[in-house]
Amino acid sequence: MRNCLLCDENPADKTGSHIVPHFLAKRIDNEPGESGRDKEMGFVITEDSTTSYFGRSVQPEKLEEIYGEVTEELIENNSIDGIVDNYFCSDCETNLAVIESEYAKTIESNTEIDKNYVSIKNPFIGFLFWISIVWRLSIQEHSGFKLKPKEEKKLGRILKRYLNSDIKEIKPNEKDSDLNDIGYKLLRAPNFSNENSTWLHWSAFYERPYSLIIDEFLLFLYFKKSHLNGMVMDFYGSEDSKQKANFITPFQPESVFGLSFDKYKIVSENITMFGVRKRMESLGKKLDLLHQKLGGDGRQMHPKLKNEILKRIANSDAELGNKHTTEDHIKIIIETMMELNNT
Ligand SMILES: [Zn+2]
Repeated sequence: MRNCLLCDENPADKTGSHIVPHFLAKRIDNEPGESGRDKEMGFVITEDSTTSYFGRSVQPEKLEEIYGEVTEELIENNSIDGIVDNYFCSDCETNLAVIESEYAKTIESNTEIDKNYVSIKNPFIGFLFWISIVWRLSIQEHSGFKLKPKEEKKLGRILKRYLNSDIKEIKPNEKDSDLNDIGYKLLRAPNFSNENSTWLHWSAFYERPYSLIIDEFLLFLYFKKSHLNGMVMDFYGSEDSKQKANFITPFQPESVFGLSFDKYKIVSENITMFGVRKRMESLGKKLDLLHQKLGGDGRQMHPKLKNEILKRIANSDAELGNKHTTEDHIKIIIETMMELNNT
């Protein structure tokens, strides 16, 4: 067994570790109305396909609704996104749980909209909580999120140095050079998640700051204060709110800028549109390649045929579940080509 990825001292004996803490993850991807463990129900949207996963206790009727027939193959190929085995030792898992349960209290505490409000008075807890998620996403194999190696090491070092089973012992050392140029901004649409679906999503192009949406929170992590004055890169329409949010260092109480539901909805719609555009771009490129392989004139498929295929695929993808497989796409492509070539 390999060593714990956090302390590198004990064997990584813990199974079922959450990358995103369970109290947040369950708000993002649970079956509607359910909040227990093993009730996950999520969809992973990538450029080429939409795959899905489900928890062990999701009712078979619910699965049938989404997948049609529930086969053994479906159950065997299911793996829950964001839950990993043999990453950490039990001690480190306990230490992570200490800051998580402390931070979870802020979900219920007082909030404001269009203003900065203090979510947790004890400095450093919020900082450790958020960097622990960013670091775990970065060390998770195939998460699609990766910090630069130096940055990943720095966050790991900070967590190893300061996490403790006794919350009173968790205090930042002002002389620690790892802590003196780092900080974050946090936006939250309070309680949006209670009634609406939310995201776990980030953009691969944003490093200054790293920009992530985790449930109803938008997190911007800065490895250098000078990045506050850097180039503006609008993260799905949140830039004006980000400008108004306070910058939080490890030595200050956490301050959050409250977003209205309408504002979060705009961000959410922009993410959906981005996802659709990415998939259509990727499919468009594949259709051009297909056109070339079939010996067609020029490098690109005729726009009329291409647009018709993309339209039909987009319409079929409006349905849920694993219906959008590559085979389905091929079927649509062949049908459309035969139809349009015969008119
Ligand atoms: Zn450990």
